[in-house]
Amino acid sequence: MRKTTRQPTDTTTHFGFERVPTAAKAGRVREVFNAVAPRYDIMNDLMSAGIHRLWKNAMVDWLAPRPGWTMVDVAGGTGDIAIRIAKRIGLTSSKLGTGNITVCDINQNMLELGRDRAIDQGALYGLDWVAADAEHLPLPNMHYDAYTVAFGIRNVTDIENALTEAYRVLKPGGRLLCLEFSHLTIPSLNKLYDAYSFAVLPRLGQAFAGEGSAYKYLAESIRRFPNQAGLVKLITKAGFGRVSYRNLSGGIAALHSGWRL
Ligand code: SAM
Repeated sequence: MRKTTRQPTDTTTHFGFERVPTAAKAGRVREVFNAVAPRYDIMNDLMSAGIHRLWKNAMVDWLAPRPGWTMVDVAGGTGDIAIRIAKRIGLTSSKLGTGNITVCDINQNMLELGRDRAIDQGALYGLDWVAADAEHLPLPNMHYDAYTVAFGIRNVTDIENALTEAYRVLKPGGRLLCLEFSHLTIPSLNKLYDAYSFAVLPRLGQAFAGEGSAYKYLAESIRRFPNQAGLVKLITKAGFGRVSYRNLSGGIAALHSGWRL
């Protein structure tokens, strides 16, 4: 039987360390990314000293996309993952029948920046840009070979609903790959990591993007997000099989994989 999205049982939810009405969270998240959109890509390089590029390359390596696949990149933002995949499978040329990638994001500004960026980088073919919420994808059932989500699922109001949607749109045999901040595997480094996250990050955000509060939300939302084993449980609960994960940079981030069997 097909799973349906859950109705919220609590009328409030978390937004970083704050509690907000459940119905207000998506709007608050949209405001965060509206505010940071123009500086989003440069801030990623600055905050991670470029390491996010290695993590994203690791995601595409593990996915091992093939020409001809139909893929969806949810919370795709400025297209960082989709453009990488497009280049990997040669979607930058006008070859017909090499598959396509749909980028979904709740934020129109991020998508527009992504589309411009794709054009600038010569990724002209096979990318579609759709404004949509990960919890209610306007996409067909059992259609996609792969569903990717990078640094996005942490922001959705109900992660279980988003994972149920991921399962719905994947073909049997299709694969979910999720890249997200996670929990350090060396607990003795937690103090240092906290100092960076809560003292340095918001200051960097204020200095370079004029948005200290957006980067405070980033740090808080990372701490609130389930750890590696917790996310395995949620992915399994959504129906996926052969669920596994790999830590990146000592668990600062993790890649989770699951299959619609
Ligand atoms: N995947 C891109 C990357 O790795 O660079 C963008 C990640 S960015 C940190 C998070 C993105 O998630 C933002 O573009 C935001 O608009 C989007 N987002 C947040 N909540 C969402 C939701 N409920 N549905 C779809 N996208 C969402």
